[in-house]
Amino acid sequence: MNAIVSPLAPVTDPAKADAAKAEKAAYENNKLHKRLCRLVGQAIGDFNMIEEGDKVMVCLSGGKDSYALLDILMTLRERAPIHFDIVAVNLDQKQPNFPDHILPAYLEKLGIPFHIENQDTYSIVKRLVPEGKTTCSLCSRLRRGILYRVADELGCNKIALGHHRDDILETFFLNMFFGGKLKGMPAKLVSDDGKHMVIRPLAYVKEEDTERYAAVKGFPIIPCDLCGSQENLQRKQIKNMLRGWEKTNPGRVESVFSSLSTVVPSHLMDRNLFGFADLKTDGVPNPLGDIAFDEEPCSTPAAGLTTISLQRQD
Ligand code: SF4
Repeated sequence: MNAIVSPLAPVTDPAKADAAKAEKAAYENNKLHKRLCRLVGQAIGDFNMIEEGDKVMVCLSGGKDSYALLDILMTLRERAPIHFDIVAVNLDQKQPNFPDHILPAYLEKLGIPFHIENQDTYSIVKRLVPEGKTTCSLCSRLRRGILYRVADELGCNKIALGHHRDDILETFFLNMFFGGKLKGMPAKLVSDDGKHMVIRPLAYVKEEDTERYAAVKGFPIIPCDLCGSQENLQRKQIKNMLRGWEKTNPGRVESVFSSLSTVVPSHLMDRNLFGFADLKTDGVPNPLGDIAFDEEPCSTPAAGLTTISLQRQD
């Protein structure tokens, strides 16, 4: 007699189970790719990052984020209604043990124009910064200058960097906690030399997505600690805080990020941003005006609630 098998019973055939697992993984990976394309496309559109005829220099460090940036921009270029060019650029700073064959091999295989700029900033930084002092600020300044020059030489009017949503949020909190400034990392800005537009097309993308995408695509990641610089402990602290919030308070990080695009200068304290000194009453009711007294969350109970609680005590 044949045994009756429930349709809800788990797949016991190992080959079938593997196939089901592979199908699910392919589905999730496809969803991730679509999400990345959507978010990058949205950021590009919201900030008008790329226009017809642009030549975009994509800065490739060999880290997960810049690989993801290049990959997604290449996909979007295929679909875009406008024409723009991409040149991948890596600055080889001559850090000890930098595997200088990895990026050229990867980019050749990809078949896109690229340029490797060899500049020994590592030695300069080592020579100029006293032992034990942080090297990042001089290193980044040197790198920035070189990349602007290379963009000029390659005829690129846009410089795309791989910073993502979490970089922006970390910078925002670093500036607030340690610098006393309400300042993040812009999605689009004019370069220091005033000649190029710097863009961050991953501005809406979570780091966890670039991590997953890098693993899915098998990008040949180059370690980022070759310079021997100490990890920035303050940034690490902020990163841990944000990751903790993702677990304990889902939605909070999204809300903070969204607040960066919804600024109300009249409700902050920056006298350069809002003309408090010249503020005048005009007798005209403003329906969008101050609602501070209406929606205090819990520290100051609304008048009606106070009355009810007083009545109940009676
Ligand atoms: S971590 Fe190293 S390579 Fe990166 S900015 Fe700092 S010194 Fe430069």
